[in-house]
Amino acid sequence: RIAYVNGRYVPHRTAKVHVEDRGFQFADGVYEVCEVFAGNIVDVTRHLDRLGRSLSELSIDWPVTRAALVAILREVVSRNRVVNGLVYMQVTRGVSKRDFGFPTPSVPSTLVVTSRSASRAAAEKITEEGVRVVTTPDIRWERVDIKSVALLPQVLAKQFARSNGAAEAWMFDKDGYVTEGASSNAWIVTEDGTLVTRPAERGILRGITRAAIMDYAAAHGIKVEERAFTVDEAKHAREAFITAATAIVTPVVQIDETVLGNGVPGSVASALRAHFHDDVELVPLR
Ligand code: PMP
Repeated sequence: RIAYVNGRYVPHRTAKVHVEDRGFQFADGVYEVCEVFAGNIVDVTRHLDRLGRSLSELSIDWPVTRAALVAILREVVSRNRVVNGLVYMQVTRGVSKRDFGFPTPSVPSTLVVTSRSASRAAAEKITEEGVRVVTTPDIRWERVDIKSVALLPQVLAKQFARSNGAAEAWMFDKDGYVTEGASSNAWIVTEDGTLVTRPAERGILRGITRAAIMDYAAAHGIKVEERAFTVDEAKHAREAFITAATAIVTPVVQIDETVLGNGVPGSVASALRAHFHDDVELVPLR
């Protein structure tokens, strides 16, 4: 495998950043993950728009131009012969003597890109069986709209899920409303087939897959309501699902101890998963 680190394509197993990289010391950096589908990078325009916003909110410079970054993403994916999988990019404020404030003068930001294949067997199992989620308080900071690599609350939430035999943790706010998954956006489907997801203004990351589902719904006459829902409402919903670049649409069949419907993926989530790639932006590798 090959990774890209600051201008070089290097063997993945020896790819390194400096011990004084601010990403390592302060989680002072941001990232993006794009799906690779049938040899295409999915929704790269939206992912780079969001990367630009995350960088700008933290006053971190683009490490290379947008066009150069797209070329690097394609190169890393193709050098790793990934046809279906993901491409990961991370930008940090760079390498500087440890000090909380920004380096002055500023230093070049660090760019790392990796790519790997996804397991087809795992995807098929999820499509057929769906997943279980467990719920846990959302203990994150207020700027979860920035896709930063400061992910400790999500690490703990995901580990809580894993140790309880679940695929994802749904986090809830002080009022009992679901914010989102540790690494996904949360959705429910009401009795009349309306998709419900929390508004992007507060408490969640503005998911690119979430936006793509909104577009798909609008184009196909599916109703979407952007409003917060409680854990209890979710447990009584007709269906539930999660969205993320690496999960596409993943049906949820159980929340904590409550089995949804008859415990198999719902028709709405299954259809959204099956048709997800019909309308999205696909950038081929060559
Ligand atoms: N929320 C959180 C907290 C996430 O980490 C992610 C995935 N990185 C998402 C939502 C889904 O976002 P996207 O659809 O852009 O992958």
